[in-house]
Amino acid sequence: MADATNTKTNLLGLTRSGLEEFVVAMGEKPFRARQLFKWIYRRAVGDFDAMTDLGKAFRSRLAEIADIRAPEVITEQVSSDGTRKWLLRLESGQAIEMVFIPEPGRGTLCISSQVGCAMDCTFCSTAQQGFNRNLDTAEIVGQVWLANRELGYSPDGDRVITNVVFMGMGEPLANYRNVVPAAEVMMDDLGLDLSRRRVTVSTSGLVPQMIRIADDTNVALAVSLHAPNDELRSQIVPINRIHPIAELLDACWHYVEKQNARNVTFEYVMLDGVNDRPEHARQLAALLKGHPAKVNLIPFNPFPGTQYRRSTEEAIVRFRDLLVKGGVMATIRRTRGDDIDAACGQLVGRVNDRVTTRLGSKLIQIAVVQA
Ligand code: SAH
Repeated sequence: MADATNTKTNLLGLTRSGLEEFVVAMGEKPFRARQLFKWIYRRAVGDFDAMTDLGKAFRSRLAEIADIRAPEVITEQVSSDGTRKWLLRLESGQAIEMVFIPEPGRGTLCISSQVGCAMDCTFCSTAQQGFNRNLDTAEIVGQVWLANRELGYSPDGDRVITNVVFMGMGEPLANYRNVVPAAEVMMDDLGLDLSRRRVTVSTSGLVPQMIRIADDTNVALAVSLHAPNDELRSQIVPINRIHPIAELLDACWHYVEKQNARNVTFEYVMLDGVNDRPEHARQLAALLKGHPAKVNLIPFNPFPGTQYRRSTEEAIVRFRDLLVKGGVMATIRRTRGDDIDAACGQLVGRVNDRVTTRLGSKLIQIAVVQA
């Protein structure tokens, strides 16, 4: 239940420097923040009592004014391919889902940045839900913190989560002020300690924020391009009417230069008969050739009421081959965890209502929990 009387500071919402300020305001030395940070993130501890190298008085004072609150697991499902999906309840009573995709040598956690989305892309079911609210920093960091605990993370073992992608619900760059500090905690070496190439922010193309983020942090950037010309892109990704392709690509190359990044990943959802024809592939290759770009083709995941169909396997492979022939790196994103999507409708209990939406390239259902 949302607890309106809880005025404690959730430490998951603070960057390391924010935590330093917090402990200094308590009359402690700044290095206490580093100790705390390590307990919370490197050891995934959520209970001050267990933090044995902190003085007893400090621990009990902390317990009075602070806590470590992550979203709560409502249900967990495991796919036959090992993909895990959690339905998470936020303190506001809303729920989101989070997905973990294990692959040989890496584990990718797909997280959400907003409840709903305002970008209104025509092929995306989150758009149908409309925009509800931004997640705060603690709700974003809390997803990763919680997933580590759920996956049996141990500080002595191999890391389980090696990559985090902001490819769940929401437009991360529209929630800039919470996403940037959350990414900072993920990349902090005393925090979640993920390398900068392994925290990916995916955007539909908010150009001003793309330019700003080049100065503020050093995440990997993915851009939802989905069409090779303005006429088509403006139809399916409406933000293109404000920031057309040329402007978007300039912001991408600026980012790569400023960040000394390897490249930008361009996501391209494969919609049958809409954007998957050979001439589209050729146009796309002409746009990207010679630039630090790679293309990730995503087979469309249909949802109830959609006007689109997934491109045929043949069309997707042909598209990829034309890109490669045109001098552009391209891969096809494998669809994972299909079988547990089918099981979404089996949720019961406190979940009062459900809306179908999309997490990453997957179709999911969001439970609306009445507070
Ligand atoms: N708002 C961010 C994050 C979106 S999720 C963005 O637009 O980049 C990650 C990817 O999934 C995006 O490229 C998005 O366009 C894509 N996507 C959305 N709906 C989809 C669907 N039904 N099938 C496949 N991919 C989809």
